Amino acid sequence: MKRYTVALIKGDGIGPEIIDEAVKVLDAVSVKEGFEITYKEALLGGAAVDMTGDPIPDETIEIAKSADAVLFGAIGGPKWDDLPRDKRPETGLLKLRKALEVFANLRPVTVYDELVNASTLKPEVIKGTDLMVVRELIGGIYFGQPRAYEEDRAYNTMVYTKEEVRRIAKKAFEIAMKRNKKVTSVDKANVLEVSQLWRDVVSEVAREYPEVTLEHMYVDNAAMQLVRDPKQFDVILTGNIFGDILSDEASMLSGSIGLLPSASIGERYGLYEPIHGSAPDIAGQGIANPIATIASAAMMLKYQFGEEKAAKRIDEAIKQALKEGYRTKDLASFDAKEVVTTSEMGSIIAQYASEL
Ligand code: NAD
Repeated sequence: MKRYTVALIKGDGIGPEIIDEAVKVLDAVSVKEGFEITYKEALLGGAAVDMTGDPIPDETIEIAKSADAVLFGAIGGPKWDDLPRDKRPETGLLKLRKALEVFANLRPVTVYDELVNASTLKPEVIKGTDLMVVRELIGGIYFGQPRAYEEDRAYNTMVYTKEEVRRIAKKAFEIAMKRNKKVTSVDKANVLEVSQLWRDVVSEVAREYPEVTLEHMYVDNAAMQLVRDPKQFDVILTGNIFGDILSDEASMLSGSIGLLPSASIGERYGLYEPIHGSAPDIAGQGIANPIATIASAAMMLKYQFGEEKAAKRIDEAIKQALKEGYRTKDLASFDAKEVVTTSEMGSIIAQYASEL
């Protein structure tokens, strides 16, 4: 029997509630698909500050690195907002991402048929949307040198090496092979040399994946196309700053923050987490939507462990739960037949996932 170890980082706010539901669902599918997951909990964020004085104790990095993957809830909250920067919860998360050398951020956007009305866009525009933004996470203008804030000017540097582009492009093409075999590479090659290099390297990598169709698109056009006709996209491959903006734009197509998973992956490690934060306003009330975290666990099975059948069980179970009209409070006004708690939603999805 295949065995995996998962570092569980529950974090703060609704983090513990939503992670518990993801574990429930993972346990249900692992029994069905014949593998075993053992969990090791680690502290991060405010919870870690409270216990150890440090938002990311060394032990957390050790646990994360020794596991096959990390499943993470969310961190932060008003209790820790006034701490100095090096003690703040976000510092812990940034350090974890760096320690795991995760250079690719994956954000899928699935628009569920039952929730087409939750979007601000017209149902006929978004119905059937199923895309993935693959964003380069640790290079580009956010990290480029030189950078400075001087007396009467400030500057940053957008720099990519061929190797940095190659490795993220390969990830995007590998993901496209598991999806609908189309990559849209987004850049600003009409103005920026760094984008011209990006385009050249992506085209070179594309030759290794003849089954995948590659198209190039300027970022301004991509921003427009995402709201005009999001169905045209399968995998959107882009750099750090463009990806930051486009992935937030794309996430709003589905209309609910509680539904969207993400993954940050590198050559070796993978960190799987919902895109939302710790929602301190609703923590401890049993009303958080666990679907984003459960879908993140499905991504972990698919992209980290290659357990595609188990991942599909989860994705289908989420669809089934929504189709049957089960809604957590955040989605109660969208065709709910029954409003359920966080834990009930987890149990319903776990049950469907083992029946399918
Ligand atoms: P947030 O995503 O936590 O919440 C925004 C709004 O969405 C809130 O009204 C919240 O109740 C709602 N919401 C979020 N997730 C939900 C879910 N699963 N189900 C139902 N409703 C949900 O963003 P925020 O309020 O800007 O930040 C709160 C805290 O989270 C801050 O401390 C922030 O720094 C932190 N944060 C952490 C992460 C992370 O851990 N990756 C990401 C973003 C924000």
